[in-house]
Amino acid sequence: MVLGKQGSGKGTQCVKLSRRLAIPHISTGDMLRAEVRARTELGIKAREFMDRGELISDSIIIKMVEKRIELDDARTRGFILDGFPRTLSQAKSLDEMLLPQAIDMVIDIEVPTAVALKRIASRRICVDCQAVYSTSKPPKVNWTCNLCGGEVVQRDDDTQEAILKRLALYEKETAPLISYYQEQGKLYRINGVGSEEVVANRIDKAIQEYFKKHEKK
Ligand code: ADP
Repeated sequence: MVLGKQGSGKGTQCVKLSRRLAIPHISTGDMLRAEVRARTELGIKAREFMDRGELISDSIIIKMVEKRIELDDARTRGFILDGFPRTLSQAKSLDEMLLPQAIDMVIDIEVPTAVALKRIASRRICVDCQAVYSTSKPPKVNWTCNLCGGEVVQRDDDTQEAILKRLALYEKETAPLISYYQEQGKLYRINGVGSEEVVANRIDKAIQEYFKKHEKK
């Protein structure tokens, strides 16, 4: 599981980690954005909340995640959770869903809010594959995704108002998860300030530490 406030680089690091470890990346934000694009009933309902920077109800999110982690890839390879759980009640539901297995590691990517705000203001994403870019690191050609050719735009919920609301909600609802997992001895704190590669190396080191501790290969 990867925790970190908006702009911590959580999504970017999860994509990289998923490739390095060949483990599926489950991002509730990406899943919801796909529902919005496909104009499903859930997407239509979720959109208003997302644009305002508010959370979707626990029951909807929990059902969505439960369905996703039952798919073959997640059952055989495990998974990297990004954006879930976001509340203590979601964390407790996850514990029940996973019984008798459990989460191995919780990686918390830490950045000061000022750094996060700057990153979000310059964040751009591909509407098709969700690859993340920034105004300082745009795609090679004309705001067209390097990976899939999709259009690269600012996220609808990356407005100043919605961002401030999401950051406040993170402090209130998600930050308590840090002590929840720390008490279980699963928390690994990672300094999220630095280049993508530097942060990725810090995460790799934490994973090696985990395997050493648990004597797995
Ligand atoms: P960010 O971390 O920048 O807020 P995400 O892509 O993770 O972006 O999520 C975007 C939006 O999707 C959230 O603001 C919220 O409305 C909704 N969302 C995603 N995950 C959850 C969740 N676990 N519980 C409730 N709402 C969620």
